[in-house]
Amino acid sequence: MIQDIAPKELDNHYINCQPEGEDRVVIFRGEEILLSRTGEDGTPANWDNDLGKEYDPSMAPKDLLDLPLRKSLPGVPDGELQYLFAISGTRYFLYCDTREIPESEGFHYENVRKLRQDTSKDVCFAAATAFHLYVWYRDNHFCGRCGAELSHDRNVRMLKCPKCGNEVFPKIAPAVIVGLCDGDRLLLTKYADRAYKRYALIAGFTEIGETPEETVKREVMEEVGLRAKNIRYYKSQPWGTDSNLLLGFFADLDGDDTVRIDEEELAVAEWFHRDEIPIGDDHISLTRAMVQAFKNGEV
Ligand SMILES: [Zn+2]
Repeated sequence: MIQDIAPKELDNHYINCQPEGEDRVVIFRGEEILLSRTGEDGTPANWDNDLGKEYDPSMAPKDLLDLPLRKSLPGVPDGELQYLFAISGTRYFLYCDTREIPESEGFHYENVRKLRQDTSKDVCFAAATAFHLYVWYRDNHFCGRCGAELSHDRNVRMLKCPKCGNEVFPKIAPAVIVGLCDGDRLLLTKYADRAYKRYALIAGFTEIGETPEETVKREVMEEVGLRAKNIRYYKSQPWGTDSNLLLGFFADLDGDDTVRIDEEELAVAEWFHRDEIPIGDDHISLTRAMVQAFKNGEV
């Protein structure tokens, strides 16, 4: 999974610091992220902000894509860069201004959801984690209690209301993903009306007042009309583009195996025998890791 970046490590302890030349800068445009192309000789591209020039992103070799270096963005003032985290000594800053940084030679935007196929694992993990924080910073400018403008705390990652004292911390939404098993069969699904067209597993957000195990039972019943038992935790995925922390569970079918899908959520739900599971592992997501673990007979 993309969080498995060992021997590198994510250090998300917040520090109040200014960016330096070798730090990386994360710049979003909606769901797109700005990537820089390192030259064949290892020299990072320089951002020239030449709006008149046509730039072809397909020119960029995938394995040379990274997040831009601070020193390659001379037009961006330090005051617009917010410290995010470090990965094994490399520090990442978020560009916080609403003024759009345009594409330029050596720099292009890609959808952050598609990034997982295009870049190295640690760049992909940094981008996903940065996107989670970006969404939180983007959506929290004013106090939800009194309406005053929030200010950044200097010591911890928190926004504070100077008027009423309300403290706002980053939001994490727990969600479950369920590998529903019936002996040597696993239930695979496809979403209705979503860009993701490959087979997936039953999934859903935990509601307030619910344990994750209860979420498993509820989602299985809601999405496919089946009962789940013997619910056991597998692994987690701490990144996602919906501010989520994904908790993976395997469970056994309890009783009748007749699938009745929720057509609002799903287009397809089918039982597959271990030997016939149609996807291979790409070591990227929890879904893929769970399906592969079942296929390999490990669970
Ligand atoms: Zn307030």
